[in-house]
Formats: sequence, structure tokens, C-alpha cells
Amino acid sequence: MSMTNDPKDLSKALKSCDTGCVLTGAGISVGSGIPDFRSENGLWTKYDPGVYASYQRFIQDPSYFWEMHIDVMHLIQKAAPNPAHKALAELEDNQYITGVITQNIDGLHQKAGSETVYELHGSNETCSCIICSKTYKTQKIADHLFSFEKEELVTLMRKGKEIPTCQCGGWIKPDVVLFGEMMPLTSLKSAEELAASSDIIVVVGSSLQVQPAAALPFVTKRTGGAISIINKEPTPVDAVATHVIHEDAEKVLPKLVELLQQ
Ligand code: NAD
Repeated sequence: MSMTNDPKDLSKALKSCDTGCVLTGAGISVGSGIPDFRSENGLWTKYDPGVYASYQRFIQDPSYFWEMHIDVMHLIQKAAPNPAHKALAELEDNQYITGVITQNIDGLHQKAGSETVYELHGSNETCSCIICSKTYKTQKIADHLFSFEKEELVTLMRKGKEIPTCQCGGWIKPDVVLFGEMMPLTSLKSAEELAASSDIIVVVGSSLQVQPAAALPFVTKRTGGAISIINKEPTPVDAVATHVIHEDAEKVLPKLVELLQQ
């Protein structure tokens, strides 16, 4: 099939296929007030990921990670699912898609009602001790850290004070995947199986620059399926996609649900 940017064509493709799946990135949560990383107002214009999102750096001095993550936790705490998250939950409910693979850590798909969600980069819901793996609720840790004024807290953390620490003495880290850290292999395996068994993979709000997530559309394509892209800006995968829609996800996805009801 040749390339099209009409949501009607995507709705027809979803109607006629056996199974579909969705791969989401930070762009789907921009409408919920969580900026993505690589856009103009993205977090990484403020925080260099090589320093603030590096596992190597975390184990040397966690204060840099926490300096950024305090902002991330504030954003996630305030955020609610937007019409794009809700539309995906409806697509799953109506069996147009089997599940959502996400690079996001914000938990908004589950909050919107999606049942099958594979989190490739972990989740902010829980934290674990990097030594003994004891699990903690992130909210509890956030509540304590939020009781400080941010600048004062960062100064203390630079001196090694107030860094969330386990009973065993190990540092506590949110269960989100940092650069240089292993991905959760069970989620990745499930995501690959879902992509391989899908007749269509719809990518929503991802710049497709982070591997191995960016390779998943090719898993679907290799097994004979089609790639659809819904992203504000062009991606490196647009050239091989069947549907390419450069618009806001929170506008396109509810429209898609409407078209599927016709
Ligand atoms: P990215 O920042 O690299 O790309 C986001 C893409 O979304 C951009 O190409 C942008 O054009 C597009 N976009 C922005 N607003 C949009 C909208 N309203 N509708 C549709 N598209 C929109 O994000 P990525 O590809 O997910 O990779 C970034 C990494 O950062 C991921 O690993 C992810 O784990 C992490 N991250 C997660 C969150 C979150 O959990 N909400 C937020 C920021 C970053």
C-alpha cells in the first residue's frame, strides 16, 4: 500500500486487520502536561541526559539524578490521562488492538484503563534498593523529598545528605531505566512477541531514536505487518510507514475511535 496521511485509511486498516498494537513515547503525555525529552521545551534542554539520566553517574553520585527526577515526579503527580490515552484504552476494549507497548514511565495508560501495557523503560510507581532490591512506593519517597525547598535539598544531596537510602544502607532508585542500565527483559520479550504477531503497529508520540524500542516497528514489518505513525514531527521511520499523520495524538486518536464507530 502507498503512503497516506488520512486517519480514515488508518481506521479502515484497523477494521480489516486481525490484531493491532500500539507503541507510545513521551509525545502522548505532552497533552497531560509532561514535556517530552527532545522537543524545544523538553526536559533535556535543561538537564543533560548523559549526566542526569546515567546509571553510571547515579551509582557515583545520585544527587544529579534526583535533581532532575524531583521535577519529573512533580509533573507525573499532577498529570491525568488525556484523550489520547483514553482513546487507546477504548481501542483495546473494542479489540482493535491487543495491547500498548510504552517507553513512558508515567503510568497514564493504566490510569486511562489500558489493560495490557508493556513498560519498556520501567515505571515511576515503585523504587528499589540498588543493593538488596527491597521495593518502596515512589509516592512515599516523593512526599518526603517534596517537604524540602528544592534548592536546599539539592545542596544537601550534593553533600551526600537526604539521598533516599534503604534500611540496608543501599541507595534507593526509582524503577525507571537509565542510560547504561539493563532493560526489563520480560517486558521487552512480550513487546517483541506482540509486535511480531500484529498486522499493524501504530507508533504514537515517539521520535523513534531510542533503541530497542525504535526497532519494534521493523519487527512488525518483517513479519508482514504495516507501520503507522502518529507524531507531531517527522521520524526516521516515516519513509517505510503506510500511514503517517503529523498531528497531535490527543486530536487524532479520538477521531480514530469515532471513525471506527461509523
Ligand atoms: P521523544 O521526546 O524522543 O519524542 C517525542 C516525540 O513526540 C517527538 O518526536 C514529538 O514531535 C512528538 N510529540 C510531541 N507532542 C506530541 C503530541 N501532542 N502528539 C503527538 N506527538 C507529539 O520521546 P521518546 O521517543 O518517547 O523517547 C524519550 C525517552 O524519554 C523515552 O525513553 C521515555 O522513557 C522517556 N520519557 C518519558 C516521559 C513520560 O513517561 N511521560 C516523558 C519524557 C521522556
